[in-house]
Amino acid sequence: MRLPGLTPWCRVHALSEVDPAELEALGFRLVLLDRDNTCVPRGESDPTPDVVAWCERARELGLRLALVSNNWSVAALERTSDALRAPVVTFAMKPLPFGLTRAMEAAGVPAEQTVLVGDQLFTDGLGAAWARIPVILVDPQSKKDLFYTRLLRPVEARLAADVPYGWERARAEREGKAS
Ligand SMILES: [Mg+2]
Repeated sequence: MRLPGLTPWCRVHALSEVDPAELEALGFRLVLLDRDNTCVPRGESDPTPDVVAWCERARELGLRLALVSNNWSVAALERTSDALRAPVVTFAMKPLPFGLTRAMEAAGVPAEQTVLVGDQLFTDGLGAAWARIPVILVDPQSKKDLFYTRLLRPVEARLAADVPYGWERARAEREGKAS
């Protein structure tokens, strides 16, 4: 089952499966990152080492980064922002697109050169669609979820089930679009 706005551009198990150099080669200049269960496992305070390393590598390549999160804890977001050395948009209220567009405006990068990485179709996927940017859907880092997220997971899993895992198909689609 595929619904407009709820089909991710790319689906991977973890962010580390996407090479930042390939994103850069495809013309992306800004990577927007969801925080909870994309960078920081739910219930923990800090991003996982693979995410920290990914962000370092992306920055070395000249990619801009920004956190765009629905989390209400500004202190938690600032801690992650420091750890990843990425500015943060708080109270993003995804799937509303305004937090995403605010991050793009702050970076001075248009939607065509922006990609979002997130773990939830109904917030990250739909928000990206409304902001007209592609989304890389990652598996949630932790099985722990907020109660309302837990209710949506089976629906999201059903919607995502038809989207094959893998970076290659997404890259080919973007290259096709660019040429
Ligand atoms: Mg999340």
